[in-house]
Amino acid sequence: MVNEKRLLTELRKLDRHGLRRVLIFVRGLLMALGDQEAAQPQQGDPEVTYRLETVKCGKPNCRSCPHGPYWYAYYREGTKLKSRYIGRELPEDVRDVLR
Ligand SMILES: [Zn+2]
Repeated sequence: MVNEKRLLTELRKLDRHGLRRVLIFVRGLLMALGDQEAAQPQQGDPEVTYRLETVKCGKPNCRSCPHGPYWYAYYREGTKLKSRYIGRELPEDVRDVLR
């Protein structure tokens, strides 16, 4: 079983070049599985919006609500809007892109 959570944690430690290597590797794996389409960079590759948001934890007596702010990435997968928690800080390479 793949520990996906740990894998994602490890991926977050990579810099831009490391991530690009992983991307190329993953594309290679997809290609090997016969997924020609997914193996190619897509014209519709997700356009990502980064948003800083505060979060309410829902605990009735929490005195530190709202928590954060934390960064979230929003992107579309087909018609679905997906969000992914990033963390308190944006990764360095994302900050560079947004600059
Ligand atoms: Zn709270």
